[in-house]
Amino acid sequence: LVRLRARLSRSQNALGKGLLTLLSREHLDEDTWEEVEDTLLTADVGVQPTQELVERLRERVKVLGTRTPQELRALLRDELLTLVGTDFDRTVRTEPDGRKPGIVMVVGVNGTGKTTTTGKLARVLVADGNSVVLGAADTFRAAAADQLQTWGERVGAHTVRGPEGGDPASVAFDAVKEGKEIGADVVLIDTAGRLHTKTGLMDELGKVKRVVEKHAPLDEVLLVLDATTGQNGLVQARVFAEVVDITGIVLTKLDGTAKGGIVVAVQRELGVPVKLVGLGEGADDLAPFEPEAFVDALIG
Ligand code: GDP
Repeated sequence: LVRLRARLSRSQNALGKGLLTLLSREHLDEDTWEEVEDTLLTADVGVQPTQELVERLRERVKVLGTRTPQELRALLRDELLTLVGTDFDRTVRTEPDGRKPGIVMVVGVNGTGKTTTTGKLARVLVADGNSVVLGAADTFRAAAADQLQTWGERVGAHTVRGPEGGDPASVAFDAVKEGKEIGADVVLIDTAGRLHTKTGLMDELGKVKRVVEKHAPLDEVLLVLDATTGQNGLVQARVFAEVVDITGIVLTKLDGTAKGGIVVAVQRELGVPVKLVGLGEGADDLAPFEPEAFVDALIG
């Protein structure tokens, strides 16, 4: 928890600090509230959540009357927590009851950090004592399978791969089959994210999903989004949600942006929680998403 906060604070606390400074002004006039709104919009919180938050803040600040810095901080923390959501179940479902292996599919547009996230997740799972099989179903990007296999070798997970340009669904199938045969705990399937056309994506990803589900239930479908792409990420989220049932979001590259508000926007968009965040390129740079630590980092 401390780690997430420490790691986020450098780039993130622009948002919360800015808000706190604005709310601390002696006179909260219309201009100030507009600045609050702009601050939230700039951080990619999204229009509707921003309006709701500003409305609640106005109401509560009014009720408060005189404002001590501590009171303002507590109030802002409370409202940001509500916005980020404390009721979601954010556990990555890798241990289905009495059934092995748990199957996790990782989807997203190329370049968002899909393969890296799959590797980091494998590392966490192996460190927790799970045996993991990696399925390199991104057969379109030439280096993707190599990259995944390198991760596999680093963390101690076997990688199932197919010929370059081969059928992603058959690689996914082989990975699940192998996972069952060797009694693995978890199979992680990395997929291709060519967002050339929606039908193309549907064909590819839909087939992977169908083939996997013929043999075992999919326990988790993680959508990887690059936090630095802002509203573009929301467009991607919408398209993927039409093709597969997303069960969790991974926001990568949160280390390189102050636009943490995307957490709020994307959860609203999909009705699905952010479960993990990427905080760098290294093997240890994947963290569970913890609303409290996140909000504390925002406020600084
Ligand atoms: P894919 O095409 O979606 O599989 O993307 P990759 O996993 O190959 O990642 C694309 C680039 O983003 C690589 O250079 C990764 O090292 C980098 N990357 C992935 N996750 C993060 C992250 O959380 N933070 C930062 N700073 N870079 C990341």
